Amino acid sequence: MPVTRRKSVVVDIGGVKVGGHHPIMVQSMTNTDTADVTGTANQVAQLAKAGSEVVRITVNTDEAAAAVPRIKDTLMLFGVNVPLVGDFHYNGHLLLKKYPDCARALSKYRINPGNVNIGRKTDDNFRTMIECAIEYDRPVRIGVNWGSLDGQLLTRMMDENARLPEPLDAREVTMNAIVESALLAAEAAERYGLAHNKILLSAKVSGVQDLILVNRKLAARCDYPLHLGLTEAGLGSKGITYTAAALSVLLQEGIGDTIRASLTPLPNGDRTEEVLVCQQILQALELRTFTPQVTACPGCGRTTSTFFQDMADQIQRYLREQMPVWKGQYPGVEAMKVAVMGCVVNGPGESKHANIGISLPGTFEEPVAPVYVDSKLFRTLRGDRIVEEFIGMLNDYVDKNYSSSRDTVGL
Ligand code: SF4
Repeated sequence: MPVTRRKSVVVDIGGVKVGGHHPIMVQSMTNTDTADVTGTANQVAQLAKAGSEVVRITVNTDEAAAAVPRIKDTLMLFGVNVPLVGDFHYNGHLLLKKYPDCARALSKYRINPGNVNIGRKTDDNFRTMIECAIEYDRPVRIGVNWGSLDGQLLTRMMDENARLPEPLDAREVTMNAIVESALLAAEAAERYGLAHNKILLSAKVSGVQDLILVNRKLAARCDYPLHLGLTEAGLGSKGITYTAAALSVLLQEGIGDTIRASLTPLPNGDRTEEVLVCQQILQALELRTFTPQVTACPGCGRTTSTFFQDMADQIQRYLREQMPVWKGQYPGVEAMKVAVMGCVVNGPGESKHANIGISLPGTFEEPVAPVYVDSKLFRTLRGDRIVEEFIGMLNDYVDKNYSSSRDTVGL
């Protein structure tokens, strides 16, 4: 079923458009010490190379703020022009004022209303950040997080709720307070002169059902673009599953304009996994395409060895590695479907549904591997070079069917 996107205004983040009918944007965040210019620039470059369209970095100290323009310069030397977002808490007003080059190098400022003084009698800190955004013509994300929700606002709403004839449960009041916090801050930002189309909102919690609930509420009450993500998704399969579960429900309802998977990497783990997870979620929902996908069966007692699993993995990795080059040379190749199947039970059938598919021999089957191209049996491979030969056929298929010059050379 096609997804009807919620209507939102369009915000420009350093040339990347978010909201409206623009593609749902994938973003990520570094976990390096921002004061470490080389380490941070390297990680930003890795995230950008993996497909992150915007990268957020912590700006928490004088050293970090001073490093930001140098990180930007280093990235330009690398040829990486990804917009950087500054993540500010507590002292953003001081750092943005004291380090104008930092303010200029960033394409967006993230403000957490729970830890600036929004809602207090004098909200000078919040106001200062908004004035910097206006001065440098930058958008802001007002990012509410239930771990740092404005305590005064929550207490007031809990008290008001307690006086109702039929009070809501505490969880619902908390979700309402998160929404209220975001909207009050956005309203104040506009009151201080920031344009409506310079504001994105996010409401982050760590539970799947809570994330769905709070974003449905937020989406119903404003037309700011929404940034979706669990605040702490967690480790490994848990983090990936929870993120996919929560984001898929919202995205299918047309809610969400940019996403992040806040996965906890293992020590020395690969930070770019969070980018791939976001891409896979969007591709699975058919909202965007990034990389040709490999359909592989789970294997069972009919598969004789791990050869077929290795092959499926090799082919998926091969496709992903080709994409930086293929993207320019072969428009549309990212939507190609490839099948690598373990035996003849579902192998030929699944291969016929793919653009190109191979079915490996299962137990007691003849040691041959039929390859289907565009639903027709094309060739049968055998011997020790099945993987290499299949990759060669893949390359030929891509060149023949997606080359941007194929019309002119008459293929
Ligand atoms: S296609 Fe064959 S090997 Fe794969 S799961 Fe089905 S029966 Fe098992």
